[in-house]
Amino acid sequence: MKSYIIPQFKVDRDDHRCIRCEVCVRQCANDVHWYDEEEDEVYTSEDKCVGCLRCVTLCPTSALVVRENPTQVPTNANWTREVLTNIYRQAETGGVLLTGMGCDKDYRNYWDHITLDASQVTNPSIDPLREPMELRTYLGAKPDELDTGGRKSKPSLETSISPQLRMETPIMFSAISYGAISYNTCECLARAAAEVGTYYNTGEGGLHRDLYQYGEHTICQVASGRFGVHADYLEVAAALEIKIGQGAKPGIGGHLPGEKVSAEISRTRMIPEGTDALSPAPHHDIYSIEDLAQLIYALKEATHWEKPVSVKIAAVHNSAAIASGMVRAGADIIALDGIRGGTGAAPTMIRDNVGIPVELALAAVDDRLREEGIRNHASVVIAGGIRSSADVVKAIALGADAVYIGTAALVALGCHVCQKCYTGRCNWGIATQDPDLTRRLNPDVGTRRLVNLLTGWSHEIMEILGGMGINAIESLRGNRLRLRGVGLTREELDILGIKHAGA
Ligand code: SF4
Ligand code: SF4
Repeated sequence: MKSYIIPQFKVDRDDHRCIRCEVCVRQCANDVHWYDEEEDEVYTSEDKCVGCLRCVTLCPTSALVVRENPTQVPTNANWTREVLTNIYRQAETGGVLLTGMGCDKDYRNYWDHITLDASQVTNPSIDPLREPMELRTYLGAKPDELDTGGRKSKPSLETSISPQLRMETPIMFSAISYGAISYNTCECLARAAAEVGTYYNTGEGGLHRDLYQYGEHTICQVASGRFGVHADYLEVAAALEIKIGQGAKPGIGGHLPGEKVSAEISRTRMIPEGTDALSPAPHHDIYSIEDLAQLIYALKEATHWEKPVSVKIAAVHNSAAIASGMVRAGADIIALDGIRGGTGAAPTMIRDNVGIPVELALAAVDDRLREEGIRNHASVVIAGGIRSSADVVKAIALGADAVYIGTAALVALGCHVCQKCYTGRCNWGIATQDPDLTRRLNPDVGTRRLVNLLTGWSHEIMEILGGMGINAIESLRGNRLRLRGVGLTREELDILGIKHAGA
């Protein structure tokens, strides 16, 4: 059947610069470029280009330009090129539209409409280069008050403290499963988390045995499919996370196609090689908060009450009520994943139309837990579109204890957010199991890039805190007086619990 889809990208080659080195031919796993020896020419077939920019980045003479195809469909506010392309694609395949990464719709990004305060005359700012600045963060249930005993000269702490995750910066790597990403990518995340003193999250794909050495920096997920969940897996983790939902696809399960289930992945996930890994939409043993409480209890029992248990949900309309129930069910950490949260594969219509921005969910959850007097009983971690250190600081002032980053971490590794992760042909060696593509991500280089990213962000967070006259990140948590809204409606300001700039 002839395709009616207009290619999304134009690939232009400057013939004067091109030296026929064939780097682009070798680097593009989508076979966009090919070399004709007889004519000594490199040609392109741009209908297969996904805009990952691998060829542009590696071309030694900068001979290539990849740009959005300027060819337009007739102007129509409703029947846009994207709408037409989706319909053509479904008319040609009869399938569900798939995509990768997070929602790219132009919903309001609240981080860009919130500004931070700075100290000027009173409460002077602090110079983080000369004075100590504390980013250390503890995640887990905290007591409402502390009892001390012992002698006056040698007091002792009588209150027993729940298990905590200690991190040197309030940033962790989000749940991304082995299967959705390559082994080398998992290794980069694990090593970088260990080096920086933070955590990465296995996602629902289990944990490769070679990565057990980084267990102290690993949050092991227990998802509806129970892939790779066994006693050793629970034992080696620093914390456990029950995944109820995910921002990119709230309310639905996951699907890793059989082609991606290699021998290693089959061993790690404990499923037969080459079979589709389908995780159900719900946990079949959780139909109420009481059921959730039982699973939290079971995981704590299985790990001798030594590890915090997190529960992750997608940010949806009634997140605040759900979070309250989760805390009462015994969760030590609440993870909220917003509509811009990434994924290896999701139905496009779900990714782009289901869920809410995490900024709004966070404000609502923090308010609700405070109102009910249970805010200290669990830490709140948010995910779903954190792009910079400024987003992290705003999130913490809005009420989060820490953030997860997923897409930003993959971008540090080379990802150009082409959103084609679901094809398994990631030219950057990230979202693929192809041995030739996987090799493109060197674990030493990748680890260094991630460590650099977290180091840079941490320095910036210290600068921002210093400017606010704050010397510990803990002092900022939930301090919305240090935030102001710009260009937001009264209702949005009320939900976020912040004043408009100028007030
Ligand atoms: S898919 Fe990526 S590597 Fe291939 S031509 Fe397009 S931008 Fe270049
Ligand atoms: S991980 Fe790879 S396939 Fe996925 S968006 Fe990034 S570059 Fe594209």
